[in-house]
Amino acid sequence: MKHKGSCHCGAVTFEFEGPEITTGLTCNCSICRRKGATMTEFVISQSDLTITAIEGALSTYAFASNVAKHHFCNRCGIYPFHQTLRKPGYYRANLGCLEGVDVTKLPISVFDGASL
Ligand SMILES: [Zn+2]
Repeated sequence: MKHKGSCHCGAVTFEFEGPEITTGLTCNCSICRRKGATMTEFVISQSDLTITAIEGALSTYAFASNVAKHHFCNRCGIYPFHQTLRKPGYYRANLGCLEGVDVTKLPISVFDGASL
C-alpha cells in the first residue's frame, strides 16, 4: 500500500510503497535514543521511495562509519527517514511523520543498536 508522510513544516514530503503498518521499531543506539523516534520495522527500497523537498530543506547527518544517513528537515528539525546501517541504500520512515498512523496504538519492538 501507499504511505504518505511529511516533516512538520511540510518542506519535506515523501511517499513509499510498503506493507500495512502494524508494528514499530525503536533503537537504543546513540542517535536513536536521542531522537526518540519510532520507525517502520520494515525497510523501504530506494526505488519504492519518492522524496519531494523544497530545495535546500533536506539535510543529512552521518557519523562513525558514515553508512547510515540520518535525513532531517533543516527548517523544522524533524527527521522523516534514514538510510539504514544494516542494509545500506534502504530506508526506514519515522512513523510519527506518516498520515493515518497512530504510533501510540502500535506494538513497538526495540532493536539493540547500541551493541553494533
Ligand atoms: Zn520541515
